[in-house]
Amino acid sequence: MNSLEVAPVNWKSKAQEISFDVRPWINGRRIDASTSEHFATFNPANAVRLADLPACGTTEINAAVSAARAAFERGVWANLSPRARARILMNFADAIERNADELALLDTLEMGMPISSAAPDMRAAADAVRVAAEASDKLLDQVIPNDPSTLLLNLREPVGVVGAITPWNFPAYIGITKIAPALAVGNSVVLKPSEIASLSCLRLGELAAEAGIPDGVLNIVPGLGAGAGASLASHMDVDLLTFTGSTATGKRLIELSGQSNMKRLILECGGKSPQIVFADMEDLDAVAEAVVGSITFNSGQVCVAGSRLLVERSIHDLLVERVVTLASQIEAGNPLDETTNFGPLASREQHDRVRRYFAAGRDQGAVAVLPGGPTEGSDACYWMPTVFTNVGSDMQIAQEEIFGPVLSVFAFDDEIEAVRLANSTIYGLAASVWTRDLGRSLRLARAIKAGSVTIAGRPGETTHDATAGAFEPHGQSGMGIEGGLDGMRAMTRLKSVSLAG
Ligand code: NAD
Repeated sequence: MNSLEVAPVNWKSKAQEISFDVRPWINGRRIDASTSEHFATFNPANAVRLADLPACGTTEINAAVSAARAAFERGVWANLSPRARARILMNFADAIERNADELALLDTLEMGMPISSAAPDMRAAADAVRVAAEASDKLLDQVIPNDPSTLLLNLREPVGVVGAITPWNFPAYIGITKIAPALAVGNSVVLKPSEIASLSCLRLGELAAEAGIPDGVLNIVPGLGAGAGASLASHMDVDLLTFTGSTATGKRLIELSGQSNMKRLILECGGKSPQIVFADMEDLDAVAEAVVGSITFNSGQVCVAGSRLLVERSIHDLLVERVVTLASQIEAGNPLDETTNFGPLASREQHDRVRRYFAAGRDQGAVAVLPGGPTEGSDACYWMPTVFTNVGSDMQIAQEEIFGPVLSVFAFDDEIEAVRLANSTIYGLAASVWTRDLGRSLRLARAIKAGSVTIAGRPGETTHDATAGAFEPHGQSGMGIEGGLDGMRAMTRLKSVSLAG
């Protein structure tokens, strides 16, 4: 090894040595939760129990929101100049990057994402913080043209206390990408991570303190959805709730907002993203590779996973054959091996859910040309890729989000039918279009109801770009903008000021 090479990380021995702090982070320190109720997290690769976390509830959420409000009112963060906040957020990004291995390892242990994906994800998350920091003094306010007697201003202010509720599929990444824009514009934050994978998010408290983020500005409370989650969502002193998770929970949060203080909502929910392939594509191998990559990355547990493949009828069989060949070559492995690209599903519940959808597909008449399914004789949560053809557009596997490596294939005869099929679910998160006809690709990009459309690539490719990736879901995939400068503006409110001369 020469001096420029980085020593390989021995993830398995790191996993043996790692310790967990399960306590909530409130007002700049770890506190002991008041509750005696706990919930367990398990490693889905081997079913080993990892930790028991306190099932925090109203007491801890109240303490966290009070700390966040007090910090906001004191102005220790909100009243700093944007440049001063940016300097501290740059430190936070550096702290995330320095601790990327630990954060990635915690996610891999708790939800099974291969370390080969989790580790680069942490570096991307650190970059997302840097992007928010760099942009913090570039969201310019407006001076409105008027006659000289009055100066009219539109000023952007932080909303105050932001609640964040996050899922388990990219635990630290999504937590960080919620926190960064909220903090960059001056808000205080209370984060409630998923009960399936909370440990990496809990570590962010110490990293924020190390970076110089003042006490109370960032608080992190572990707990169950119906406990800590509902408490945060119905809190009278939370100004905005930013959520990523299922559509069912998103709908519940709308109710809780209405029943409490009408807090604003940003909801990034489920998807059933189509990958649409036209017969003019010559390199079907490349298409098949992208199609399989999209439905197997993170074992299909990705909101923008291309779970529906829509193929022009004349190339249906050719493309399906290539997709099945590639998908059947996927090998599952220990997520702690750097060579593993395909790990288990995140939990036993998720495994049961995929199993139920698999049975529904068969029962309703779809053909499992690649059955995939569970690896036998193990408590681990592996599910090998499944490909269904002959899928009717009213079947459950055509309409509902499975959140696993299960691909449903449909044939279409023309552009109009392709668009109709693409828009035939309650969702509208992402889509991809494969055609060599530029005019058609632009027509489809406009006609498809989705927040993000990729031409010749995987659905949702732009959404992981911290600078460019602003998007707004359609239908029951959610509401509100996340990502990019517009995602930062969504964490502010506009005030109109007039100043008579
Ligand atoms: P989930 O809705 O079950 O849980 C998400 C979070 O909501 C968790 O922290 C949970 O504790 C909390 N929660 C659950 N019930 C609650 C309640 N009544 N009140 C308050 N909080 C509550 O979702 P999940 O299974 O963790 O994640 C998978 C889902 O996330 C999928 O539907 C996926 O599409 C979606 N997702 C969407 C995006 C996006 O950007 N649109 C990104 C990633 C994941």
